[in-house]
Amino acid sequence: MVEPLIKVQDLSMQFLRKAGLFGRGGQRVRALNGLSLHVRAGETLGVVGESGCGKSTLARCVLRLLQPTAGSIRFDDVDLLALNDEDMRRMRRRMQLVLQNPFSSLNPRMNGFELVAEPLRAHRSMPRKEMRDLVVDLLTEVGLSAEFLSRHPHQLSGGQAQRIALARALALNPDLIILDEPTSALDVSVQAQIINLLVRLQRQRGLTYLFITHDLSVVQHISDRIAVMYLGKIVEETSSEDIFANPRHPYTQALLSSTPSPDPAAKRQRIILPGTVPSAANPPPGCAFHTRCPQVMEMCRARIPHSRLIAEGHRVSCHLYEASA
Ligand code: SF4
Repeated sequence: MVEPLIKVQDLSMQFLRKAGLFGRGGQRVRALNGLSLHVRAGETLGVVGESGCGKSTLARCVLRLLQPTAGSIRFDDVDLLALNDEDMRRMRRRMQLVLQNPFSSLNPRMNGFELVAEPLRAHRSMPRKEMRDLVVDLLTEVGLSAEFLSRHPHQLSGGQAQRIALARALALNPDLIILDEPTSALDVSVQAQIINLLVRLQRQRGLTYLFITHDLSVVQHISDRIAVMYLGKIVEETSSEDIFANPRHPYTQALLSSTPSPDPAAKRQRIILPGTVPSAANPPPGCAFHTRCPQVMEMCRARIPHSRLIAEGHRVSCHLYEASA
């Protein structure tokens, strides 16, 4: 069994939302609520959930760009929350983040060379010729020619800009890349190209991915395992094949029912969930999904379901499986 490269346990993140002009006090927002997951070296864990479920907060907490309120995060068996700022800065060379919109993460005043060389300059010193050769190699690796050295972000398509963002992420030879909706802003055909590129890079470099998305179909082919997130918690986690063949949590079943099947003969009955994800400032008591769940029972309104192992590698948090356990 390969040891996890990253292990997150009971992670909680609360923010204080400021009160409005006439409000009497701030509201505590529980963006993450006792979340646990792990990612083994060389694998891809897809984290899937609707907007507002806390996925991006999770990405930022793992990189310690946000300081979690409680819980632990171990990377390569190092307790990240115990590191001082300098040690964490060094550790971040091994952990990179790629965001949804490359145009907001790339400095519009920099050209391709400067954008890819920037992380190298911050951590390594080398002659300019060597730096240029390294940047050209990185561009080639992500499918761009040396012509892109002089291009600025406004001269790039969405797919080209995301390739530059990937070259930047690869520059320091990381072990882990956190991909936060990396294809959501792209056309479907370009999405497939970026996914194929990510698969190839992972194979060639032995990378580990934490791939965050709202779209199950995007992570289907790249993920070894998938974790489904709802209101700051993982509600189901299993292998990628299992989640599509045998989804057990009612929320996963609803997400899956709205995902197009690659097999046109396999028609899925669409499950329409009422409403939207409740506010993390005022989560429902008991099971947080009970306000939208088609299978809600009386006990769901009062008791929080615990995560249970229902088959090898398959965990679910739902009273339906506690009752049958
Ligand atoms: Fe639905 Fe109850 Fe299971 Fe929550 S615990 S998902 S409300 S059946």
